[in-house]
Amino acid sequence: MTERYEVVVIGGGAAGLSGALMLARARRSVLVIDGGSPRNAPADGVHGLLARDGMPPAELLARGRDEVRRYGGHLADGEVDTVTRDGEDFTVVLAGGRRVRAGRLLVATGLVDELPEVPGLRERWGRDVVHCPYCHGWEVRDRPIGVLATGPLSVHQALLFRQWSDDVVFLRHTAPPLGDEQAEQLAARGVPVVEGEVASVEVVADRLAGVRLRDGRLVAREVLVAGPRMVARAGFLAALGLRAVAHPSGAGEHVPADPMGRTDVPGVWVAGNVTDPAAQVGAAAAAGALAAAAINGDLVAEETRRAVEARRRDVFSAETEARVSELVAGDRRHGL
Ligand SMILES: Cc1cc2nc3c(=O)[nH]c(=O)nc-3n(C[C@H](O)[C@H](O)[C@H](O)COP(=O)(O)OP(=O)(O)OC[C@H]3O[C@@H](n4cnc5c(N)ncnc54)[C@H](O)[C@@H]3O)c2cc1C
Repeated sequence: MTERYEVVVIGGGAAGLSGALMLARARRSVLVIDGGSPRNAPADGVHGLLARDGMPPAELLARGRDEVRRYGGHLADGEVDTVTRDGEDFTVVLAGGRRVRAGRLLVATGLVDELPEVPGLRERWGRDVVHCPYCHGWEVRDRPIGVLATGPLSVHQALLFRQWSDDVVFLRHTAPPLGDEQAEQLAARGVPVVEGEVASVEVVADRLAGVRLRDGRLVAREVLVAGPRMVARAGFLAALGLRAVAHPSGAGEHVPADPMGRTDVPGVWVAGNVTDPAAQVGAAAAAGALAAAAINGDLVAEETRRAVEARRRDVFSAETEARVSELVAGDRRHGL
């Protein structure tokens, strides 16, 4: 028989493990299925996370897995291929064919950072090619920074990174031409604009040295800021009618949900980067915990409803039995 859990958590990053911890502590049977590729894997440390600042991402997750196990939660390595509705349950199918049934789903599969297509850029991702000022700003403070502009949000990114360094250059690359207001803002904050498409990332002795433009010029920089397109990892939910849609910020695609993570598909919650591309580790963990509480509340409501129905049936049967006994006794009294 297919194994069944009250909740299956798909994705075991900060959001999924935090949700699983809450659910295991709520005495729910819970399985976390995780593909083992958290978004921040290339980074040395998790920054800006209270009481755990700088901890290597793998260590943080290893601790989280231990905590889930401590309360009886189950963990499985693997990628989920498909999820289908199976009566009141869901069937979750992993690559390799393993199947599990779930009463509720918490999807915490994060997102894919689609990086600009510039040769050499991907290899430096999370090291000296970065995107998030709150994750990396302190580490790159006061260094020569180039913002590789690819869209309308790039000006905002340049103005943010300017908070950490007074040597920021705006590389217009493939972004639309600047409007007057944007040009004025960059000029006022001392951010020069370099026109021309970037052809490659230059690296010397395993350090970023700058970017080479298509016309051959080298712009010397120690740090490059890129704005990836952030796309939720949600393809395996298609059979449920749940898919990623454009995020209102224009930053990519996400799975929409209410503030507790409840999606439009009954029984399915989402948490972390799969629904909120801006969530850092702390926010992803908090969202996982909130969604877990909502799932537990939903299960409690269902169990209460069933218990009330069962009780009503019992009371009805007892009353019916008593009435029948009364009628039979009456018949006997009348010699029938
Ligand atoms: C380079 C870089 C550096 C960063 N540095 C910081 C930082 O310093 N501080 C900070 O707070 N934030 C940082 N972040 C952001 C941080 O990565 C995210 O906030 C966090 O990873 C979101 O957690 P999550 O649980 O939503 O997703 P993830 O951590 O990405 O976890 C999702 C998990 O789901 C799994 N998964 C995906 N699809 C499937 C599937 N089909 N089946 C099974 N499992 C699946 C993945 O393998 C992964 O393990 C950084 C991000 C990047 C890119």
